[in-house]
Amino acid sequence: MKKIIIANWKMKLTLNESLELIKKFKEKFKNFQKKEVVVCPSSIILDEASKLLKKTNLQVGAQNVFWEEKGSFTGEISPEMLVEVGCKYVIIGHSERRKYLLENYSMIHKKIKAVLNVDNLIPIICIGEEAEDKKTDKRDFVLVDQLQQALGGINIMENQQIIIAYEPVWAIGSGISIEPSEAEYSHKIIKLALNDMFGMKMINNNFRIIYGGSINSKNVKDFNNLENLDGFLVGGASLDVNEFYKIAKEIF
Ligand code: PEP
Repeated sequence: MKKIIIANWKMKLTLNESLELIKKFKEKFKNFQKKEVVVCPSSIILDEASKLLKKTNLQVGAQNVFWEEKGSFTGEISPEMLVEVGCKYVIIGHSERRKYLLENYSMIHKKIKAVLNVDNLIPIICIGEEAEDKKTDKRDFVLVDQLQQALGGINIMENQQIIIAYEPVWAIGSGISIEPSEAEYSHKIIKLALNDMFGMKMINNNFRIIYGGSINSKNVKDFNNLENLDGFLVGGASLDVNEFYKIAKEIF
């Protein structure tokens, strides 16, 4: 499957800083033809980002979405609205939302369903164990359980794409990435669980499994040849266009 690299800018930049960085990305990536590079800025700037990046090979993604189409849901944004502002991707269930907004996998499940209900919006579903799960050897169980809660009972059409972002919570923003062999192991567990739910044909055609957690231009090299890795979700290192470009160049 085609590899993908996704920049998650979180809430790290002001509006002006985001605009500046979008322009820098546009310039730096102008010769990156036919590669999948996605930028996820704050929701307030999605519309402008899409306009600025129109006719480039950079895509825009959102960092969150709500599960209803319309209604009395103050502060929320629907999948359709994201499509309207030019988003092609949306991150769902990031561990920071699970931690600070108490988002759980029943909400995540509803969000995925709603996103797959509109055309041309690809969910990036975050899963990953906490440090405590790792210590107590519960990683496999946690990953399978999160996947089942997120995707169990959801019908995926032949033309739909889904990205699973394996992000060990302890590795996010910590500067300590997972050992590549451990990432490969987790990705295999994820594939096995998806196989039970959807079958191998669908895994090969519809799913990509990417890694996120303290990736930078130095450690990315060690992940590159992993068999079951389809790309990266990058936080901190995506705020520096040169650093992010170096990572992207390593993987394509
Ligand atoms: C993330 O927030 O999804 C992430 C991977 O962050 P970082 O690269 O900073 O660990």
